Amino acid sequence: MILILLGPPGVGKGTQAKLLAKEFGVPHLSTGDILRAAVSSGSPLGKRADDYLQRGELVPDDIMIGVVGEELNRSMYESGFILDGFPRTIAQAEALGAIFQRMNVTLDAVISFEGNEAELVRRLSRRRMCRNCHSIFNLEIDRIPNPGVCPRCGGELYQREDDKEETIRNRLEVHQRLTSPLRDYYVRRKLLIPVQGVGEIEGIHKRILSLLADCHAKR
Ligand code: AMP
Repeated sequence: MILILLGPPGVGKGTQAKLLAKEFGVPHLSTGDILRAAVSSGSPLGKRADDYLQRGELVPDDIMIGVVGEELNRSMYESGFILDGFPRTIAQAEALGAIFQRMNVTLDAVISFEGNEAELVRRLSRRRMCRNCHSIFNLEIDRIPNPGVCPRCGGELYQREDDKEETIRNRLEVHQRLTSPLRDYYVRRKLLIPVQGVGEIEGIHKRILSLLADCHAKR
């Protein structure tokens, strides 16, 4: 199973990607996670990407295409993967098509998560991540006894630097301008499955599975 998850920041791509990865027994490839890990380790990639992440801007296409191309060479991706956060531009989508050809694999579907801006800003500003197990929580929805401690593993919960309100607005604008044209790109290729991103997590997951099954049956 090879899936791309598309949609604005805060719409729940990361959460649903983890559930889908578990369901299909394939790895979850999040370019945001790769970049954040690179920034914390101070690697050359992290040094180049840090400033873009802080401003909520996109890391240049040539860097991202190199990162994903290299990552997908690893044998763990041979039986499929869930791509979360890539592609984000038409140039990245074109390059990804070429990578798939080289790997001799086909994309099953592109799940496009929809959500309105006010709700996304609300969700992002209340989002917390675990430094240790990378779980994602919402201060409003998840009942967290101690807002600084991960209820799953006891690790430190933190707010992403780019989840502060000003940066959030910029990320949403960048998404609208550069990433949303990908919807049409994949509609034309008959791969797009739209799904409402805001709502109960398990319900959305089930809806995606049923949409994927319908789509599979039609092919
Ligand atoms: P995310 O965790 O997917 O919200 O990504 C966090 C940040 O990482 C984004 O705001 C960008 O600065 C950067 N980033 C992640 N994926 C990409 C990508 N495919 N192209 C460019 N920048 C990216």
